[in-house]
Amino acid sequence: MGEGHEKRRGVVPVLLPYPLAGAFDYRVPHGMTVAPGDIVAVPLGNRTVSGVVWDGPPEGGVGDNRLRPISAIQPAAPMRADLRRLVDWIAAYTIAPPGEVLAMALRLSMRGGLPAAAGWALAPPPPDLRLTEARKRVLDALAAGPVSGPALARAAGVSAGVIRGLADAGALVPTIVATAEPFAAPDPDHPGPTLSDAQEKAARALRAAVEARAFAVTLLDGVTGSGKTEVYLEAVAQCLRAGRQALVLLPEIALSSQWLARFTRRFGVAPAVWHSDLSTRTRRQTWQAVEEGRAPVVVGARSALFLPFPDLGLVVVDEEHETAFKQEDGVAYHARDMAVVRARLCAAPAILVSATPSLETIANVEAGRYARLHLPARHGGASLPQITLLDLRETPPERGHFLAPPLRAAIAACLARGEQAMLFLNRRGYAPLTLCRACGHRMECPNCTAWLVEHRARRLLQCHHCGHAIPIPETCPQCGAAHSLTPIGPGVERITEEARADFPDARLLVMASDTLPGPHAAADAARAIEAREVDLIIGTQIVAKGWHFPHLTLVGVVDADLGLGGGDLRAAERTVQLLHQVAGRAGRAEAPGEVMLQTYNPGHKVMQALASGDLDGFMASEAAERQPGHWPPFGRLAALIVSADSAEAADLAARDLGRSAPHGEGITVLGPAPAPLAILRGRHRRRLLLKVRRDMAVQPLLRSWLAGVRTGRGVRVDVDVDPLSFL
Ligand code: ADP
Ligand code: ZN
Repeated sequence: MGEGHEKRRGVVPVLLPYPLAGAFDYRVPHGMTVAPGDIVAVPLGNRTVSGVVWDGPPEGGVGDNRLRPISAIQPAAPMRADLRRLVDWIAAYTIAPPGEVLAMALRLSMRGGLPAAAGWALAPPPPDLRLTEARKRVLDALAAGPVSGPALARAAGVSAGVIRGLADAGALVPTIVATAEPFAAPDPDHPGPTLSDAQEKAARALRAAVEARAFAVTLLDGVTGSGKTEVYLEAVAQCLRAGRQALVLLPEIALSSQWLARFTRRFGVAPAVWHSDLSTRTRRQTWQAVEEGRAPVVVGARSALFLPFPDLGLVVVDEEHETAFKQEDGVAYHARDMAVVRARLCAAPAILVSATPSLETIANVEAGRYARLHLPARHGGASLPQITLLDLRETPPERGHFLAPPLRAAIAACLARGEQAMLFLNRRGYAPLTLCRACGHRMECPNCTAWLVEHRARRLLQCHHCGHAIPIPETCPQCGAAHSLTPIGPGVERITEEARADFPDARLLVMASDTLPGPHAAADAARAIEAREVDLIIGTQIVAKGWHFPHLTLVGVVDADLGLGGGDLRAAERTVQLLHQVAGRAGRAEAPGEVMLQTYNPGHKVMQALASGDLDGFMASEAAERQPGHWPPFGRLAALIVSADSAEAADLAARDLGRSAPHGEGITVLGPAPAPLAILRGRHRRRLLLKVRRDMAVQPLLRSWLAGVRTGRGVRVDVDVDPLSFL
């Protein structure tokens, strides 16, 4: 057993995977010894639940005679000490109940059973057993030892009913078998690309970081297409040579078919993949393979942070600026930041990768906490695309259209050259607003402060926050006028309609989360684009991901101003990141790329930064704006979201919270104020924001603040430390 596994008798704390205040004490019965990390069954109320023996002394407070005993030790590998520390760390940082964090860490392994499968073994043959051909095949398949149910059915070529029948006849006994199929070992010395001098220099530094077997964080940045992926795969190779495991986090694993293909080219085999939509069987196999050290490289979504690596030697976070790394529901944690914590707990290096690093990470580099490696140019002499601003005040689209004449002309020319073009609009559906021309009524969601979005193909108006959907009405629900409901503004569906009319011969492909359900659809789309079966791609933010489409030379951004509205602290930063990533899809091979941004604000610093390509200058000016007011990353923020069934209850609770807010030097509390999404799924929401100087911590302030607050029935207070969303 691993570190910290001293055997214990007497009374021990057991952490249960539920949002309870902390660990509960249990008595260790006579004849049993347990160690921290052991998975145990314990009584809770009148149920038996699984929990983990936690570290430290018992909680105390319950008389020894009233303590209930542990029922049993579960036949599962104990939870590793570094994972227990990660659970403690995340709970303390996000001020979530530790049990809720534990539930997140265990959900993926324990729910629905332990990481092993039910199987069958031979029993002594019953004397009166009727033997058919099928039954004989089953018995033969078990001659060499126990086999899992599905594998047995496959091996013997029988249905589950035949196996069941044999079991009922007493010829088979149920048993637990390890089901893990071997994961192929990636070969670090499989021939990879020949790195350029700049790439090799960065790769050398990363290999050294892996060899040092110490915690250190490196930002690997460089323009889109500069070969960052190839470079950090060299660090993965070094980790494999050292016989250790590597974890690579990607923001959206469903969109990473090209990444997996690249990995396979580099190492000869595919890595283990982890995300929460895996089948139970695959999840168990992967969990077990990681635990036993048989999965040398795992690429995964944020939940892969909780996998039980015995010897983690490297953590990579690709596209570190992506907000998809922040979990918003339940425990509000940022997987990039927790990946750094995990690396520290394992004394392993972490690499953060991005062409558009977050201001948080840049500040960490400037403060000397993180190292920085920079790749200055696109690989193979490809040039960065030329970005032009299209001033929609000067060259407006025709009435009822959304593509300005210069963009249309550019698309026509691109298609005539036999190259591919892409239109980007970060909005699903046909139109974001439906308005009655007769009375001005706007179609709103009854449960949310939000308009209903028209989805014409499905003939629905739908709320993008709660999913509420109604058929598109024939008459205005307010004034009863017929045929008066009018779509206002474009979504990708509407742009597709316009493009189809303008370019009738072009083969169109729409890439949005609702047109590409599931990883296979996205992978098929990527393949079709690579195979030049598509001329014009129209997409939402899905198209901004790290795709490499060599024949794509023109990108048009339909509404570059879209992300700039609202009072979000990071609106400008995020718009620059998103649009720079979208632009970076163009001209990645020999033919040069061209990007057109349609905007009403060509003078805006965001548009100027994108057009000039001076991202460093832009980030420096962002920093200069946030510094004086101690806005992140130069100060710390926590959001409190109060929600209740009625506006009155929400106001009351929010005012109470406001009155008991912490105060003092370096502390600011903003609000309470109605949230921009003042009603969400029928709940009324108010927000407060706690801001402190960077040298202070928000957690102790939050803890004592919330400890003194009593909330009424049906009132919830959700806490979000380091909030990214201000809705
Ligand atoms: P980034 O991650 O910085 O966007 P990639 O690693 O995706 O860049 O590289 C862009 C493209 O250039 C990919 O197709 C990649 O395989 C290719 N590439 C990068 N470096 C090399 C190299 N040294 N030799 C051959 N191909 C390379
Ligand atoms: Zn809604």
